[in-house]
Amino acid sequence: MRDEQRIIYMDNAATTRVKKEVLEAMMPCFEEFYFNPSSIYGPSQHTKALLDVARDQVAKALGCDPSEVYFTAGGSEADNYAIKGVAFRNRAKGNHIITSAIEHHAVLHTCQWLEKQGFEVTYLPVDEEGFVTARQVKEAMTDQTILVSIMMANNEIGTIEPIAEIGTLCRERSVYFHTDAVQAVGQIPIDVQALKVDLLSLSGHKLHAPKGVGALYVRKGVRLDNLIHGGAQERGRRAGTENVAGIVALGKAIELADAHLAEHAQRMRGLRDRLIEGILQIPYSRLNGPAGDRRLPNNVNVIFEFIEGEGILLNLDFEGICGSSGSACTSGSLDPSHVLLAIGLPHELAHGSLRLTLGEFNTPQEVEKVIEVLPGIIEKLRSYSPLWLNHLKEEQTKKVQSKEDTL
Ligand SMILES: *Cc1c(COP(=O)(O)O)cnc(C)c1O
Repeated sequence: MRDEQRIIYMDNAATTRVKKEVLEAMMPCFEEFYFNPSSIYGPSQHTKALLDVARDQVAKALGCDPSEVYFTAGGSEADNYAIKGVAFRNRAKGNHIITSAIEHHAVLHTCQWLEKQGFEVTYLPVDEEGFVTARQVKEAMTDQTILVSIMMANNEIGTIEPIAEIGTLCRERSVYFHTDAVQAVGQIPIDVQALKVDLLSLSGHKLHAPKGVGALYVRKGVRLDNLIHGGAQERGRRAGTENVAGIVALGKAIELADAHLAEHAQRMRGLRDRLIEGILQIPYSRLNGPAGDRRLPNNVNVIFEFIEGEGILLNLDFEGICGSSGSACTSGSLDPSHVLLAIGLPHELAHGSLRLTLGEFNTPQEVEKVIEVLPGIIEKLRSYSPLWLNHLKEEQTKKVQSKEDTL
């Protein structure tokens, strides 16, 4: 393994490092408070109390009542629970669901599976910055619509969707509204009352808690079927002996994130905008997604014409820099990202993207280092690229032609 000190980790949308304070909070759950919270004897009462503390911490960060928080095994489960749970419970009322084309696969693939079960799903298109509008949602609604699921912030291009507007509309129409806020929690303020959401998903490992723990906010009175059946844990709504250590960690992590939200976001925006400014000096590059306050504070996503994202990632890796690409090549598929296609990028461009997502541990020096090494990498990759060589040839012909024209 590479020396940890030398790694520049800029893939915080994929996962984050567990914070010291979070690790310290969860450690006693393994050797000291290992008891089953459902047991009757004295020692298990403390373990049970730890769950209550964590539930309070999550509730406080979201602006809801602790009784509205259900712990899950991560963001994907929370999304599945919200969407399948509402769909099946409310089937008698209607079979129509509205979502967007740029959701995370945990939402998209769930909706696609529901289509096979007889539900109808509308996948709203987005504009060139990745936005959906409340108006689009309104126009897609029918008397069969039972659920709208629109993500709070996009994991690839950082677009922050108009959740409060869509929430207001759904509340007026008495349609349930779910938002996948996995990328938003810890980056931007969240208040489920102001946003008028009925269900909200979050995940521990995107905010410095461990992987495999998450939560679903379910507004009081929302009717949904269970996803995981078994014991009576989580007030009978989510079976399985609680992941106590993970839940304690999630509570601590969200409490810390919430306490430092404004200053963290401001620092991230500073690093983000410097990174964008530096990278866009490279010829034939451009930003994907919106700029400024309508973008997640920690997200950078750029396109470099004439080359493939995978080549950029491998070369960055040689420099100890961890990033991600919009294309799923690394996972064995050659499909470009559905998000980049949805914002209107042609296939060949969607392959040349680079996503760098910042976190608390990133420094201005790291940002400068990336800005320093990237131009050389892009230049090298282009020098091997037939597309780039073609482009240069075409430019040359154009120049000669315009000279002849002026003669
Ligand atoms: C990571 C992510 C998920 C999935 O969360 P897991 O905890 O990894 O299951 C869902 N939605 C979004 C937007 C994400 O970024």
